Amino acid sequence: MANSLFLEGLIENDRGKLLAAPKSDLHNHSTKGCSLAWVEERTGHSFPMPPARFDGLEGMQKWFTSTVKPFCTGCEGIVMRWEGAFAEAGRNNITRLAMNFGAEEIELAGGMADFRELIEGFHTRYCPDTVFEPELTYISKCDIDAAADSMDEYLQTGYFKSIDVCGGENVRPFEDFLPLYRKAERYRLIKRMHVGESGTADDVRRAVELLELDEVHHGIGAAGSKDTMRFLADNHIRLNVCPSSNVMLGYAGDYKDHPIRTLVDNGVEVTINTDDLLIFNSSIENEYLLLYRAETLTAEQLEEIRLRGLSPGPGKDDKHEE
Ligand SMILES: [Zn+2]
Repeated sequence: MANSLFLEGLIENDRGKLLAAPKSDLHNHSTKGCSLAWVEERTGHSFPMPPARFDGLEGMQKWFTSTVKPFCTGCEGIVMRWEGAFAEAGRNNITRLAMNFGAEEIELAGGMADFRELIEGFHTRYCPDTVFEPELTYISKCDIDAAADSMDEYLQTGYFKSIDVCGGENVRPFEDFLPLYRKAERYRLIKRMHVGESGTADDVRRAVELLELDEVHHGIGAAGSKDTMRFLADNHIRLNVCPSSNVMLGYAGDYKDHPIRTLVDNGVEVTINTDDLLIFNSSIENEYLLLYRAETLTAEQLEEIRLRGLSPGPGKDDKHEE
């Protein structure tokens, strides 16, 4: 039984059982979605382990660009990392995978048709039974009007299932992003955004209300407000939480007092995800194990979270059917 396999894996500290149980990863930046071991194997170069803590997002970026990126750069490097992300999904039995891609990465792969063929090839090769949901992502500092104009080219194909904005919070008002989210609505995408990672509960609530988000990437700032947590719980807005990312970037103190516990205690629906496996070096089964060992959440709570991640949220099913 798949259910007991996962519970047993946690309780017995049996990584094999955790790897074998079906899991989701719904907050995954594709170009950093492979493991360090994958890049080591492909390049023959061995990397130092990441530090326990980075100096914020900037420190993380600096570490990545100086330590890892020089060995897997350009189009070839990105394709290698994409391939590794699908290999990881196969290795870790990730049966529902949402991975995000930027427009410039699609162009780097030769445009939408070539990109799709390449990605579908990796999907078929490494994890054909995985439900794969590509996400189109824009950085918060992007030229929004230009982005909104060029979105149709990517969305008309029906390949993308969700939209995201990432790359730093509070760099401009939420209203500025309306053209992107209006278009996403027209194509019936799941609407997500990185918010409440460094930002506040109020930021999370305003972003959800204004942009009509279906889900939030991170959202841990919501734990600072009972009202916001009730609002998220009542409206079934899921938070796609990434514990190691939060701890290593200093947005959470430690695993044992990670805000996910407060969120769960207040009825907020969460999922557990990797964010950037290549940087944080913590694969999905390890994220569950870290929270279990720190006694942040019980095995039963983690099992409930695992099962939730395997299906789209309430009201999202129709978006997937068309
Ligand atoms: Zn992220």
